[in-house]
Amino acid sequence: MRVLMIAPPGAGKGTQGALIAVHFGIPHISTGELLRDHVARRTGLGLAVQAYLDRGELVPDQVVLDMLRGAMVAAKAAGGGFVLDGIPRNMHQARAAYLIGRELQMTADVALHLQADDAELMRRLLARAALEHRSDDTPEIIAQRLALYREVTSPIMSWYRDRGILVSVDAMRSAQQVGREILAALEAMRPFLDLVPEQARLPVDLTGLGDAFGATDPAVDPSG
Ligand code: AMP
Repeated sequence: MRVLMIAPPGAGKGTQGALIAVHFGIPHISTGELLRDHVARRTGLGLAVQAYLDRGELVPDQVVLDMLRGAMVAAKAAGGGFVLDGIPRNMHQARAAYLIGRELQMTADVALHLQADDAELMRRLLARAALEHRSDDTPEIIAQRLALYREVTSPIMSWYRDRGILVSVDAMRSAQQVGREILAALEAMRPFLDLVPEQARLPVDLTGLGDAFGATDPAVDPSG
């Protein structure tokens, strides 16, 4: 099972990602967790990205794409499944993640969208702030992260919808209810995923993403 999640901060990516990972026995790849771990250990990378996290801004794409590649190679060695949490976050990352997946023959089976409104997300994140003391869980930074999600992350959904792999769930309910619905949907899809080889799935035309995606590299033929 290969799943990527598209969800605003506070929608439950971490919780649901962990649930999916345990249920299917696959690695949970969270770019936010990996970055926070670097910051906590004060590695060179951690020192370089800390200000981005503190401001609620995206770190440079290449940083997270390098992390993604390493984690995907490890996931392949571990059986080929994964659940991505926090990446892709914009059109460029979506395209790059797809190309890494093509190269490793492990593109996503499902793009799982967790839907929730901003008022509920703000409420949850402020509640979490009281418990976890994350540097980016202040009201101003939360508002910035939610705006960034609406502006640059949420538009990538149309691409996954066109590919026929988008699954949207209502994440306004309890974590337990949402988790049950996600696992039921993924289990229902599992036999189909095993039967239909990757080459036989819907073709993907990267140019369909429009201007926001940037110019398509002519050296890469996504249909090939
Ligand atoms: P998260 O735990 O997914 O909410 O991510 C926390 C923070 O880590 C974000 O606000 C960004 O600063 C950074 N981050 C995580 N994933 C990415 C990504 N794919 N691209 C850029 N920045 C990211």
